[in-house]
Amino acid sequence: MKQITIAIDGHSSCGKSTMAKQLARQLGYIYVDTGAMYRAVTLYAMRNTIRPDGTLDTALLQKRMSYVAVGFVLDKETGLPLTTLCGEVVEDAKRRMDVSARVSEVAALPFVREAMTREQKQMGRNGGIVMDGRDIGTVVFPDAELKVFVTASAEVRARRRFDELRAKGEEAVYEDILQNVKERDYIDSHREVAPLRQATDAILLDNSHMTREEQSAWLLEKARDTISRRNNAQS
Ligand code: C5P
Repeated sequence: MKQITIAIDGHSSCGKSTMAKQLARQLGYIYVDTGAMYRAVTLYAMRNTIRPDGTLDTALLQKRMSYVAVGFVLDKETGLPLTTLCGEVVEDAKRRMDVSARVSEVAALPFVREAMTREQKQMGRNGGIVMDGRDIGTVVFPDAELKVFVTASAEVRARRRFDELRAKGEEAVYEDILQNVKERDYIDSHREVAPLRQATDAILLDNSHMTREEQSAWLLEKARDTISRRNNAQS
């Protein structure tokens, strides 16, 4: 049975990763969180290319880009992927608010996108993958068999992110998160390379008023439909 490619794009903090991860588990597919990859590069840039005035030295980052190894290892206990940066597990560091505040700036750099897109295409070359991000259905896998574009109101998304950070015992201010969500939406959808937009053949899912269980059930049904249509067409 052919394993398909599933692209899940959408706005920040709308639960894409949770849905995508669960779907991959249900189907026995590989899950790739491309936001984690851009966050890891951002962490590298913040650790190694920051100028005394706090700005990023993007020319230096470009020079070093070939050394910025971003990848995933499986957590032996949970079986879930952990993000690595040059061999170090950076799972917690990559979600910090200071990283969130800079990630869209780094993700807009054409040489960063080029490097990450190359990696992502390679990871998904054999299908059997659920990849989430901003440009998966438009740039990374324009031929993906199933494309979903997820959104929710900025307020709902900020509230979810706030609850998530608080649950982890981290300091969080709702207004700051809301501002960050709106800023990232703006930068992600206005950048020159691979801007965030819904692919013409993507199915829209507004999950503002859906529970996690409802979203997951919706997505699994869409995936199963696509897989069986695909198999029927081939037999
Ligand atoms: O998905 P997540 O919120 O972790 O992504 C962090 C940031 O990485 C996004 O706000 C966006 O700027 C960038 N990103 C991107 N392209 C992707 C995935 C994420 O530009 N495919």
